[in-house]
Amino acid sequence: MDENNLSFQKLKEILRSQTPEPCSVCGGLLKVETIKLDQLEKDKLYVLEDAPAFVCQQCGEVWVPKQVLNELDKMIELTTKKTGKNIKENKK
Ligand SMILES: [Zn+2]
Repeated sequence: MDENNLSFQKLKEILRSQTPEPCSVCGGLLKVETIKLDQLEKDKLYVLEDAPAFVCQQCGEVWVPKQVLNELDKMIELTTKKTGKNIKENKK
């Protein structure tokens, strides 16, 4: 859990250091904010709280950068692995 927060923190810093392109919906200013991101993966819904993303200050459109999506994929992989480990530990 702490590892996830750390990488999110890092990502947030990376995003903040970037100059976001204007919103492609309304041309408004994008700001880095933390959002709730959910992704359906193999019939399981993964919800990420505090995921960094660009949010349009004018229309509220959310733009999730590729880096965050990659991170999300990694986390899903980790969660799947962790679940497998827990099942093994429970058998002891
Ligand atoms: Zn917009």
